[in-house]
Amino acid sequence: MAGARLDAVFSPRSIAVVGASRHPGKIGYEILRNLIVNEYQGILYPVNPNARSIHGIRAYPTVRDIPDPVDLAVITVPADLAIAAAEECGRKGVRALVVITAGFREIGGVGIEREERLLRICREHGMTMIGPNCMGVINTHPEIRMDATFAPTPPLPGGISLVTQSGALGIAILEHAKSLGIGFAKFCSLGNKAQVSLNDLLEMWRSDSDSKIVLAYIENFGNPANFVRIGRATTKEKPVIAVKSGRSEAGSRAAMSHTGSLGGSDLAAEAVFAQTGVLRAASIEELFDLAMAFSLQPLPQGNRVAVVSDAGGPAVMCVDELVAQGLRLAEFSPATDSFMRTWAPPEASLRNPVDLTPQASLEDYRQALDAVLRDEGVDAAIAIYVPPVRIDELEVARAVWTTAKEHGKPVLANFLGRSEESPGFAELVGHGVPSYLFPESAARSLAAMYRYARYRKRDEGELRTFRVDRAAAEGILNRAREEARLHLREDEAGALLDAYGIRTAKARAVRRIEDLGSAAAQIRYPVVLKAVGPGIVHKSELQAVRVDLRNEKELADAASQMERHLRDQRISIEGFLVQEFVKGGMEVVLGMSRDKVYGPFLLFGLGGVYVEYLKDVAFGLPPLTDRDAMRMIESIRTYPMLRGVRGQAPRDVAALQEGILRLAALVSDFDVIQEMDLNPVLALEEGHGYRAVDARIVLAPPTNPTAVGGIENRTN
Ligand code: ADP
Ligand code: MG
Repeated sequence: MAGARLDAVFSPRSIAVVGASRHPGKIGYEILRNLIVNEYQGILYPVNPNARSIHGIRAYPTVRDIPDPVDLAVITVPADLAIAAAEECGRKGVRALVVITAGFREIGGVGIEREERLLRICREHGMTMIGPNCMGVINTHPEIRMDATFAPTPPLPGGISLVTQSGALGIAILEHAKSLGIGFAKFCSLGNKAQVSLNDLLEMWRSDSDSKIVLAYIENFGNPANFVRIGRATTKEKPVIAVKSGRSEAGSRAAMSHTGSLGGSDLAAEAVFAQTGVLRAASIEELFDLAMAFSLQPLPQGNRVAVVSDAGGPAVMCVDELVAQGLRLAEFSPATDSFMRTWAPPEASLRNPVDLTPQASLEDYRQALDAVLRDEGVDAAIAIYVPPVRIDELEVARAVWTTAKEHGKPVLANFLGRSEESPGFAELVGHGVPSYLFPESAARSLAAMYRYARYRKRDEGELRTFRVDRAAAEGILNRAREEARLHLREDEAGALLDAYGIRTAKARAVRRIEDLGSAAAQIRYPVVLKAVGPGIVHKSELQAVRVDLRNEKELADAASQMERHLRDQRISIEGFLVQEFVKGGMEVVLGMSRDKVYGPFLLFGLGGVYVEYLKDVAFGLPPLTDRDAMRMIESIRTYPMLRGVRGQAPRDVAALQEGILRLAALVSDFDVIQEMDLNPVLALEEGHGYRAVDARIVLAPPTNPTAVGGIENRTN
């Protein structure tokens, strides 16, 4: 949806409040009142069939009775009346609706029908709609000054825009932000997102110069693939900080299917955030912490941090957190060091973290902060202060912000235990230095700023396309479909991967033991033998795999043993797979699971038996750039093993990267592929590629038996 259409929502020249009321406590009263007392700059039209005027403003029985054009209608009447009102608005030529009224999709049944009718009306008349079931919208721009919510107090004007899937939480955030001195540009409560989605708002605010920072409270991404695309574009322009509630089914499912025991975490959402550069706050509290840091301070140019404190304990806690978050403790230059020695109290510790001890005077503290910020080896500073009785915390606060202003490097403060009610806090935040109750929060906020600064500078990479044999892949999938099979046979799986250029070990499927010899001769010894049959899934457990068979005799013996063993367990064999024995590969796993919300979801990790124990995997959501694929590989803990440790040769990481991208192409082209598990993929030495030696490919049960390909259509 074009931003132009959201203009009528955020910058209307006139607003009709449908259901405007004279009775305090009613939503129609509160909204009209908020618009008036917060000095909406356009024209207001209360709509109420039973009143000639409300708050002294002339009221109209219906929207259609309003003599002048109306840009926006805020609808507060009960659900059934709301639909009639929307229809009237459409006829009147109203450009946008904010539907506060509840009783739609969220109640199920009749509500779903109602919402569909509402949507139809908007579509017919070309109206943009926020909601239904939302808490309203705000724009603090001095030429608009619209508070179309029923929040008890208006937010301070500022550079943050907030979009929220929970209206109540959104209002609470506005309230609390006010006490922290954080100001807002725009606010949007999305409600049921029947038409306008989170992604639409991001898209609009990306180019909105009033919105310097975007905050989002997210329950679900709507269309995650769109979120990835739009989120990526938005974080290029400005920071986006989000809290995401709810555990993703995708992550747990993907994890379950590939490792059996990774479930329960929110990995899908994590992958989405990692790919878009959207910063994820772990809690609402952290959302505020980050919002304060980003809105008040410049981004750090590097990760070298100085800590200045009047007490050792909190300084050490701060350093621990800084390091855990990937920041570094700066090393001061000799000049800084000797300068500080000339005046610092003798008991002070002048190496980073600087601990001036409570003996330090206000001037000592100011000089220390100034000295470290002046040092070229310092990118940012955290000023910690444990207010002792004898110095006025207000004085210290003043010293911190005045010093911070002189250097253009980010400075965050921790006045231990001092929050928004204390004078030091107000003094700091009022003058642009974020202040935190605890040192760890300051450290985490600074780390987030650094992460974002790095993200901004990173190479995004490219979306690559590959020459593939789509028709061959389609043929294989169609055949399995026609035969109503949900699992591909080994040879089919191999052929499917081949069609997309994913490298597999050479293999031949044979029916009879007598044919093994000639198959092996074509492949060349040593070979691997695997039994094939519908009941044979985890082959090793059934002793249905034998590796490194050197000649025809070993092969034949292995086959008859295997056959006997499986027969004893009453497991039927359909045939064998003879495979090239791939020597010296490091086992990794490459997988995919398709989620009904997230779509296909890729997994890369350390493979073989370790995957269950080490849970060392990374996720990616197509479309993936080449850098995204590389990041998946680099982000596993055992990545150094792939790079070669202790005299071991480095593995062909570039080939693995391409393998991930080709797999992404395959699963994006064919919705019917439900799950893939290539385990192991043997990563060979640099220049030698990799070989997938085992592939389990599961198809989606048929819902629409004719279609194998095609991208699903999702809205929002
Ligand atoms: P499953 O996972 O069903 O038990 P695999 O086909 O993955 O069976 O084989 C089990 C193990 O045997 C693999 O993890 C790998 O270590 C080894 N292996 C299988 N095929 C090959 C091969 N072609 N070359 C080298 N090693 C192999
Ligand atoms: Mg396997």
